[in-house]
Amino acid sequence: MVLSKRVLNSATSATVRIADKAQSIRENGDKVFDFSAGRAFEHTPKYVLDAAIEAMRNGETHQTMAKGTTAYRAACAIKLKRENAIEANPETEIVATMGCKQGLTVSLLTILNPGDEVIVEDPCFVSYQQTINYLGGVPVAVPLLPENKFRWKREQLEKAITSKTKAIIFCTPHNPTGVVHTLEDLEEIAYVAKKHNLVVITDEPYERTVWGGKKHLNLATLQGMDKHTITLMSLTKSFSMGGWRLGFAYANPEKIRQMSKLQQHLITCVNSFAQAGGIAAYSQPPKDEVLDYWLEWEKKVVYFTEEIDKIEGLSCYTPEGGFYAWVDISATGISSDEFCDRLLEEQQVAIIPGASFGQMGENYVRINCVKSWEEIEGGLKGLTNFVESLP
Ligand code: GLU
Repeated sequence: MVLSKRVLNSATSATVRIADKAQSIRENGDKVFDFSAGRAFEHTPKYVLDAAIEAMRNGETHQTMAKGTTAYRAACAIKLKRENAIEANPETEIVATMGCKQGLTVSLLTILNPGDEVIVEDPCFVSYQQTINYLGGVPVAVPLLPENKFRWKREQLEKAITSKTKAIIFCTPHNPTGVVHTLEDLEEIAYVAKKHNLVVITDEPYERTVWGGKKHLNLATLQGMDKHTITLMSLTKSFSMGGWRLGFAYANPEKIRQMSKLQQHLITCVNSFAQAGGIAAYSQPPKDEVLDYWLEWEKKVVYFTEEIDKIEGLSCYTPEGGFYAWVDISATGISSDEFCDRLLEEQQVAIIPGASFGQMGENYVRINCVKSWEEIEGGLKGLTNFVESLP
């Protein structure tokens, strides 16, 4: 057989597949209200763009050091200190990645041997399980129960651990449930990681998008957790930079050295002028342009989720962080796949079926709330019409 079992056995990414489908519909000149992938209506802030354009004009069009430019890593360290109370050595504890997704691949490659088990949340981001599978690892899904407000309990984790468990991946603020983990939540995970000597990969692309006065906390700052944690961050969400593919990983020197070696082979380096833009974004506190985005996003997240909750047959809470409405559709009696396929077909509204985030997502759909106000109104109308049309 020409194709690998690895690829043949892999599911597609629902977030990317449905976003691509919506794009094809637009390119055909047809209307679609697209709430699929996590991208905001706003574009990258001008001061970040300007820095990248200037870098290009100044000849920063060549490969950089595999671990990222000295200036980019320094900017990441400044950001970690300013916003996360983390003192990172930019020479030895930071590596540039192409967003958190590529950061995840390189992290897992660094720590996994074939057959190693990795605990993931259910529901969790659509690419975790596939990436673990690609690398010969075994994903072990531990449910996030609605009755526990979509948070793990220590006993659940303890039960999932075997002699093969190597790592835990978790996401805060959480995609798709919108949970922002409290100190207590993090302590549960830290206790288990330390007791069983596990690595925890924390996926934090939504760390700046927290609402209602909530605060994002970093697992790596808990007592003794710096050596157990790989922290992944990116500008994709908070700075509307999804197409730049830019982020970084923070971990101890032993891991960062190996991750940098892998980057030499896998990507050579992260795009040079993207890193120049990243310096503008990270080296100084976010400018008003970005702060305004976040104010607007909070208004949209609150409005959209409250309005969805008013639709009879749907139930929705306002997330503590991140972009997404996690909508309970169980009262409609149809599967999340059918719900999303028919909503797109009948009302031209693109959203993501909860089942693609894991078994626990089956009664849910995920809706990106940070599109234009016009799209939000169109989406609400489409959702209402669709649910009303169900028997
Ligand atoms: N991470 C985003 C999401 O959950 C973007 C799409 C993707 O990279 O899968 O929609």
